[in-house]
Amino acid sequence: MEKITLYSSTGCPYCVKIKNDLKAWGYDYEEKNVTENPDYFEDLHKHGIFSVPVTFVGDEPFIGYRPKKMAKALGVTGDKAQAKPEAESENAEELFQPVEGKILDEVWDFVTIGGGPAGAAAAVYASRGQLKTLIIDKAPAAGTLAITHKIANYPGVRGELTGQELLSQMQLQAKDFGTTFVRSNVLSADFSGEIKELELPEGKIKAKSVFIAVGAKAPGSKIKGEEEFTGRGVSYCSTCDAAFFNNRVVAVSGDTEEAVHEAQALAKFASEVKFLVPTNKLKGDADVSEIEKLDNVVIHWNHRVKEIIGDKKVDKIVVRDADKNEVTWDVDGIFLYLAGMKPGTDFLRGQVELDAEGYVDVDSELRTSVDGVFAGGDARKTPIKQAVISAADGCIAAMGADQHVNKRKKLRPQYS
Ligand SMILES: Cc1cc2nc3c(=O)[nH]c(=O)nc-3n(C[C@H](O)[C@H](O)[C@H](O)COP(=O)(O)OP(=O)(O)OC[C@H]3O[C@@H](n4cnc5c(N)ncnc54)[C@H](O)[C@@H]3O)c2cc1C
Repeated sequence: MEKITLYSSTGCPYCVKIKNDLKAWGYDYEEKNVTENPDYFEDLHKHGIFSVPVTFVGDEPFIGYRPKKMAKALGVTGDKAQAKPEAESENAEELFQPVEGKILDEVWDFVTIGGGPAGAAAAVYASRGQLKTLIIDKAPAAGTLAITHKIANYPGVRGELTGQELLSQMQLQAKDFGTTFVRSNVLSADFSGEIKELELPEGKIKAKSVFIAVGAKAPGSKIKGEEEFTGRGVSYCSTCDAAFFNNRVVAVSGDTEEAVHEAQALAKFASEVKFLVPTNKLKGDADVSEIEKLDNVVIHWNHRVKEIIGDKKVDKIVVRDADKNEVTWDVDGIFLYLAGMKPGTDFLRGQVELDAEGYVDVDSELRTSVDGVFAGGDARKTPIKQAVISAADGCIAAMGADQHVNKRKKLRPQYS
């Protein structure tokens, strides 16, 4: 039997999942924790790998959490291969049902478009407050929180867990209070009547109140080579992978506060950080004054990454510089923060007022320009995009919906 070696790090939730899988399949493995022994970084570097978890089955590396591929490589079949770690067995994928006749017949008290932390938290409050609540989500495993690799700052939840694990807990809590979940895409909305209508491919959903909680995850346009080298020098998270680039040259590409912050964090490890800003300014309140003071950070304004090149791992990037020339730079890795933060509100087509960037205009109680329609989370212009803010928005919106549907004079809080 091939030897199995798992390269892990302390606090890495996917490492735990892999260990659970291997145990469930009856395989012994050797664990090499890079946090405990930095020599293991070198082992991985030799293979051109710059992130964990990595599981070697013999000489074949599986980068990241790839249960299906690993089961296949190990010849695990049948029920065993289907065995899921505990945290996954109650996941969003299973919670969300297809849209059926009954769901279209109903007039819902409260419908949230989006089942991320904003939508899920709203559903907890709304369904607990006896509103007949529906969450519609087109891709429950692809929202911003759902794809977040690791979350350690959600108050009340200690330790690190994946965004999906945290989100599943919120959704299951909403389910416990009676929320119904469907997987579908809201294509358009008609908020002109007292009963709002949401157009899905399967038909129309009718609602007395609506929460727009669609997040702000711009469609990702990948850079040439980005996909190929993810985990092999392309990274999106300095907290996870910065230590792999100790004394190495890295590029950071982005124009947000997050990008600046990540460049600063990387500067503690890398010999040089090339900070590439696609335009001549940063977004929002981001500023470079702190990283300008660092000897090993060089800021390149008006520089766009065109291509990521390498053999086994990233070796070079092709950059279009400020003079529009294409130049090739040697780097060991690149951290990308280019996803942008575009709210997914195009489908609303004038039904509520949006700002110039497409964020839904709301007041302090998250009411939109239409009575009974609320918006929150990343879909509104928020001072900071965090899961806890989205969840809090969900609470406010649900209370507002309760007031609207039950025609109350004031918001009624839930005190128990
Ligand atoms: C890389 C990264 C790391 C992060 N790390 C942290 C962290 O450590 N801590 C923290 O607090 N926050 C973190 N955040 C921010 C946090 O994830 C977001 O602020 C939060 O998820 C926003 O919640 P939301 O409910 O508004 O949107 P989302 O979580 O994006 O959910 C929106 C949902 O709406 C659905 N949807 C969109 N359009 C439609 C439609 N037309 N019809 C039906 N469904 C639709 C989507 O499928 C999605 O599931 C991170 C974000 C990123 C990008």
